[in-house]
Amino acid sequence: MAYATVAVLTFTTYTFGGLLREQVCTYMCPWPRIQAAMLDEHSLTVTYNDWRGEPRTRHTKRALQEGKTVGDCCYCNACVAVRPMGIDIRDGQQLECITCALCIDACDGVMQKLGREKGLISYTTLSDYDANMALSGAKRINQEGDLVWDTSEVRPIALHEPVEKRQSSVAHTSLKTFIRPRTLIYIAIWSLCGLALLAALFLRDRLDINVRHDRNPLFVMLSDGSVRNGYEIKILNMKAPPRIFELHLRNLEGGQMNLAGEAQTKWTKLIIAVKPDQLRQIKVFVTVPRENIRLGRKKFEFYVKEIKRAEQATYTAHFEAPRT
Ligand code: SF4
Ligand code: SF4
Repeated sequence: MAYATVAVLTFTTYTFGGLLREQVCTYMCPWPRIQAAMLDEHSLTVTYNDWRGEPRTRHTKRALQEGKTVGDCCYCNACVAVRPMGIDIRDGQQLECITCALCIDACDGVMQKLGREKGLISYTTLSDYDANMALSGAKRINQEGDLVWDTSEVRPIALHEPVEKRQSSVAHTSLKTFIRPRTLIYIAIWSLCGLALLAALFLRDRLDINVRHDRNPLFVMLSDGSVRNGYEIKILNMKAPPRIFELHLRNLEGGQMNLAGEAQTKWTKLIIAVKPDQLRQIKVFVTVPRENIRLGRKKFEFYVKEIKRAEQATYTAHFEAPRT
């Protein structure tokens, strides 16, 4: 079993991490779809700001000398080189983007070296982006049924406006982006989920019992006419201190137990000590005297309870007897 588990894990890790790589995120992971469904036009997403980057050129000085308009993007492709998902953020927002922000860091580094303002790629809302695009002179055009921005007429705001004027006219992220009904509802939902998980963690049972009936033989007829069944019982103590439990039989008239390998004395309850955070496995024989035997299979319960405490657990098992 262990070898099979290691083989399956090795195969799937190599296939997903070594061969498929970002295809797993794009086609198999539900997160991009969930993220896309949660966004609206006021959500912050990684955005290339065409309104200050376009027209992009590798030869800014020459283009300026020729009287051409140039944007802040120097076509260095640093944002493309770091991409983990194989997309170019300058093509617009894409479903594949995992908002890792590596392109933001790469571009900010380039802008810093060129002595230009950071944030050519930044966390921006779609509504701010649209407002800035309109401000820069870009026009909406219909392209195969989609309204997209035509950047051929863009007059880059960042390069040509004085800083004071630019600050007042360019749309920026404000506190309102974070505090609005949608974000508050998301916070409430996630908080409720978190509280439910915490409650489940603190309220979960710290005691568990698991029972396995012997398959062969199903039962043994003893010389005095009574019938005996064997069970493998696991009692799990999920607390730090050692604990002592009582093990009882329920709904099994005349039923008595004894531990395998111990004296033949039979008990209606057994005392079991379990070490801290440990599972104790015991082999128990349950015997029903001749006068109480009912033919065939009978349902009954193993009931385990911590001594002097209320914590308890039950397991429904079967007692097998001859059918005729
Ligand atoms: S945030 Fe990450 S995944 Fe998205 S475009 Fe930038 S580098 Fe690619
Ligand atoms: S890193 Fe910035 S400047 Fe370089 S290509 Fe990407 S967007 Fe343009």
